Amino acid sequence: MARYDYLIVGAGISGAVFAHEAHRIGKRCLVIDRRDHIAGNIYTEDIEGIHVHKYGAHIFHTSLKNVWKYVSQFAEFNNYVNSPIANYHGEIYNMPFNMNTFSKMWGVFTPEEARAKIDEQIAQENIEAPSNLEEQALSLVGRDIFEKLVKGYTEKQWGRDCKDLPASIIKRLPCRFTYDNNYFNDRYQGIPMGGYTKMVERMLEGIEVRTGVEYRDLIAEQPDIADRTIYCGPIDAFYDFKLGTLEYRSLRFESEILDEENHQGVAVVNYTDRETPYTRIIEHKHFEFCRDDNGNPQPKTVITREYPADWKPGDEPYYPINDARNEKLYNEYRELAEREGSVVFAGRLGGYRYYDMDKAIAAAFELVKDELGVEL
Ligand code: FAD
Repeated sequence: MARYDYLIVGAGISGAVFAHEAHRIGKRCLVIDRRDHIAGNIYTEDIEGIHVHKYGAHIFHTSLKNVWKYVSQFAEFNNYVNSPIANYHGEIYNMPFNMNTFSKMWGVFTPEEARAKIDEQIAQENIEAPSNLEEQALSLVGRDIFEKLVKGYTEKQWGRDCKDLPASIIKRLPCRFTYDNNYFNDRYQGIPMGGYTKMVERMLEGIEVRTGVEYRDLIAEQPDIADRTIYCGPIDAFYDFKLGTLEYRSLRFESEILDEENHQGVAVVNYTDRETPYTRIIEHKHFEFCRDDNGNPQPKTVITREYPADWKPGDEPYYPINDARNEKLYNEYRELAEREGSVVFAGRLGGYRYYDMDKAIAAAFELVKDELGVEL
């Protein structure tokens, strides 16, 4: 008899939801992660009393009531509302594009004036069938917003000129005709107090977890360790890349501890000019209103500069590139996966999908239903 009913590869949110539910109904579970910590990409590390988002800023937002109820079992969420700002050569604008943005840009006051200004700018461009991203954006929001808030940021993100990017990348550029700086439209939003790592720790309570363990090494030593495996790692890596490598966009983070209490006054500043090499600076303490777990102000601050980066095998995979080549390759791996008897692929890497956290949790609920017959 295998020692475990389930081997769960990956201690991120996807693996943690599955492990929690399997453990809850009495399954013997082992969770492993090749990293030296749990929580996957939502890992927060405590530095100077601040929960630092090590793999990029993570804001929990959802309209899925069952997901919100579920995560609230493991953490109390604060009332953080994401309201990033954009810095264009020192000019500050509110995001997402809303009446505060339009008012600053053109001195307009009413929604009607703002709408008229945007329409006038769109008409000036006279673009009927956009043939690239630049034309697409100009035909959606006009010249001023494009030049100051879209162009440089997008070019840095993709490493290419907007004229050389397909129009299809931007389907909509939502403009909000209210003075509302809340970035998300979702019903629920917040940051788990105490950090994401603590939240995942609670999910994994009572379950055997081994970090710093690579699936391949474990399985080479103990091939029959578990009856079934939930594999939340990259699907192509599982098959030793035998059909080819799935591609990603990557990011590089540069963090710094600063001897000051408040560096930029907000959690997220987007640098929308082309010349600044990074796209964003995150000041982590603002996610929790500049207070530590005991409610005390932290004398220092931690900031992280985020640089978009090309990806090569071995780099941290962040954003899947869901173009025709990669979709075809993924489907070929999927076909192999469907023939597996005891291994099920899950999570953002197993499914080669960008999932927000709530969607990753919802996908894990589906897996729990299929695998364990439990409806969440
Ligand atoms: P992961 O967290 O990646 O977990 C997979 C784990 O498997 C990893 O820890 C990895 O080490 C481990 N693993 C892989 N292969 C092996 C192996 N062979 N052996 C052992 N272990 C292995 N979502 C939001 O809702 N809000 C946000 O603001 C937000 N911001 C984001 C910012 C960035 C920069 C990125 C890239 C994503 C963001 N997301 C956000 C999405 C969020 O990160 C994901 O939804 C979430 O991390 C998915 O969790 P997961 O468990 O599927 O994958």
